[in-house]
Amino acid sequence: MNPKFSVLIIEDETHILNFMRKILTSHDYKVLSANTGKAGLEIISSQCPDIILLDLGLPDIDGVDIIKKVREWSSCPIIVISARTSEREKVLALDLGADDYITKIFNPLELIARVKSQLRRYTQLGSAAPAASEHIYTTGGLTVNDDKKEVLVDGEAVRM
Ligand code: CA
Repeated sequence: MNPKFSVLIIEDETHILNFMRKILTSHDYKVLSANTGKAGLEIISSQCPDIILLDLGLPDIDGVDIIKKVREWSSCPIIVISARTSEREKVLALDLGADDYITKIFNPLELIARVKSQLRRYTQLGSAAPAASEHIYTTGGLTVNDDKKEVLVDGEAVRM
């Protein structure tokens, strides 16, 4: 059996947190939770959840700042779940690196569908071969293409 995916919910409203926990647990996710931004960041760095569900209106740190902080060192998928409905807020969150945005109040099935979709995208990215460009080194006239096991000097292939 596959290990359970872990979902971190950062949400200060207990009834919404419990509601999401219930939905996710019933779909076999392992749920971690935090009701402040600070606690959320600690869990992200200590337990590396597979996906983060983030409320923007938190008591201590604005969710937008959490996205910024997390993106400094992690590409863990983040779905914003917020009562803020303005396009400006959505665009800002997505620009800063959130992967999706769900407006409260949401349908439980929509939540699960979006979580699945992000996890699918993320695990595919994680298991796929890294982009070819990451394996091409260029210095001066010399190019080493580790993917093709090829060395070029001034654009000409060299036999090794
Ligand atoms: Ca809130």
